Amino acid sequence: MIIDMHTHINNRWDHVQRKMKPFTVKGLIRIMDSLGIEKFVLLPVGTSPETRFFYMGTEEILKMYRKYPDRVIPFCNVDPRAGSNSDKTDFSWILEHYRKQGCRGLGELTANLYIDDPMYMNLFRHCGKIGFPVVVHLYGRFGGSYGTVDELHLPRFERVLAECPDTVFIGHAYAFWSEISGAVTEETRIAYVKGKIPSPGRICELLKKYPNLYGDISAGSGYHALASDPVFGASFLEQFQDKLLFGTDTCHYEGSHGDILVFLNESLGKGLISEKAYTKITEKNGRKLLKL
Ligand SMILES: [Zn+2]
Repeated sequence: MIIDMHTHINNRWDHVQRKMKPFTVKGLIRIMDSLGIEKFVLLPVGTSPETRFFYMGTEEILKMYRKYPDRVIPFCNVDPRAGSNSDKTDFSWILEHYRKQGCRGLGELTANLYIDDPMYMNLFRHCGKIGFPVVVHLYGRFGGSYGTVDELHLPRFERVLAECPDTVFIGHAYAFWSEISGAVTEETRIAYVKGKIPSPGRICELLKKYPNLYGDISAGSGYHALASDPVFGASFLEQFQDKLLFGTDTCHYEGSHGDILVFLNESLGKGLISEKAYTKITEKNGRKLLKL
């Protein structure tokens, strides 16, 4: 059985702008079926206004969960500035409200603030208390796009990992995955990883050092980080088999949803990763983390 740790539906605004068919849960299930994926984490996104025209709130995700409880694993989402734009906001009641309805985690977080902003820290600590893993979209800059902000080599993220030991963080997107390579620079950190990886990068260190850090291998960012240098990629999968989570980041009808699965299957077929690592990454780690 395969669990996809990162999917979205998209039927509010974005498809109107793009003149596309709304991407419904039925469409998502068809894609999941075609890839042989049994369960998928459905992430609300766009709770922060920076996140393109992609609004999809927790209530709608929960509606889909009630309709397809055997397929959907619901997450909730809350902007760290919500409530009172303060680092003292009490989020415990809202997280509890969502937990009771079936939510298993929070994210993906896209507010364009420093990842160690006191308001983010406050939300992270609340998630740790209730036992919600947090999916963070790491972006390296202010403005122009969405996501949490950190500098080259993720010094702020490291502080967050150390200061919130009870919160599980799931790293995602460019500014996280570009740090798989020791050769990452200011110029290449907000782009897909390309070519050979000459030496292991910062996330290799962080994954080793912090038990509360996981990596979400979904989307172009995860795929290119692993497939641009397939031998390095496979050895990374094998080495961090307890800390990696399979996902596709499916959010439209078109797109290369299955690429990462093809890469995993090929790596397994060529004997570059073990059956054990494959099963942990595609199912067991997610099951353990989400208490399924
Ligand atoms: Zn996403």
